[in-house]
Amino acid sequence: MKTAIITGVTGQDGAYLSKQLLDKDYVVVGVVRDKYQINTRSLQYLGIANEIVFEEVNLSVPEQVIQLMIKHKPQVVYNLAAQSSVSLSFKEPKETLSFNIISVLNILEAIRQVDDSIRFYQASSSEMYGKVSNLPISEQTVMHPLSPYAISKASAHWIAVNYREAYGLFTCCGVLFNHDSYLRTSTFFTKKVLQSAIAIKKGHQDILEVGNIEVKRDFGYAPKYTEAMVLMMEKDVPDDYLICSGTSIYLREIIEYVFKSLDISMDKVRVNPDFYRPADIENIYGVSFKAKAQLGWDYSMSYFDVLDILIAEELENYKK
Ligand code: NAP
Repeated sequence: MKTAIITGVTGQDGAYLSKQLLDKDYVVVGVVRDKYQINTRSLQYLGIANEIVFEEVNLSVPEQVIQLMIKHKPQVVYNLAAQSSVSLSFKEPKETLSFNIISVLNILEAIRQVDDSIRFYQASSSEMYGKVSNLPISEQTVMHPLSPYAISKASAHWIAVNYREAYGLFTCCGVLFNHDSYLRTSTFFTKKVLQSAIAIKKGHQDILEVGNIEVKRDFGYAPKYTEAMVLMMEKDVPDDYLICSGTSIYLREIIEYVFKSLDISMDKVRVNPDFYRPADIENIYGVSFKAKAQLGWDYSMSYFDVLDILIAEELENYKK
């Protein structure tokens, strides 16, 4: 039996990835911060919480990471744990930079010392590209990160690339653009819009308050994006891939679509400048030609298709 270690197993991507690896008969070891306070909401939603072997590890402590590798002898490690919110990273830059960078270094050092055949996946982000003058983004685009989160992800990305180039480790970076699902937490834009819209519709909330909605992002569907992670790790040669939908839409368009679908007036939306980020990406979208050609990963959903799924799922589960 093969063993996969997943950090960030309790998050959106960790849950979908766990399901996909369990379906492939992996033993899934999920790294958590505190085994007495595990947030199993996402894993329970997918019906797999009891199939994960939870292991409490502080990824900032090198010795604990080395013991994790020695104990479980994994074939693959998927590193998804991160302080993943761009907005929060402006409020907590030190914690974001420290954890998101050091955890990657510790895992790669542990792999190098314990068993250098272990394959490693790093959850890189489109935010690394930030301020771009030429769209679409490709694997060759120069990075210009615009937030502490983006800087942390760019650093972690280059550490993973460096361990491949310097030590010959099998490291893959999946550069994923924004992707959502029912399992997103309400601190993220689309989930907040969906939850607020339904609460407004049911009379439980008056308005939706948002920051700058005149920016554009390339959005996709999480369960499809996590499939690409597995495909990368199954290749003979490690490499980095952009995973994206190929088009961007305004955040405003997401609100308009959800509100129209639920028959809610746009008068219920308030733009609050206090919610604006100190620096923000105006527009970003990428091309996933390389992933399509080399991994066979194909993505054809428009974000409005995704929103139809999410509206239905959110309505079905509202206050259940
Ligand atoms: P998520 O839902 O926010 O999950 C983050 C995970 O990281 C959770 O399991 C969380 O554990 C864990 N974590 C956070 N801080 C930690 C810490 N200090 N120590 C240990 N664990 C910690 O994120 P996601 O959407 O699944 O994303 C997965 C990865 O992909 C992240 O690295 C994210 O930055 C990256 N990414 C995401 C997107 C996207 O659009 N979703 C796009 C590009 C890249 P707790 O349950 O204990 O909080």
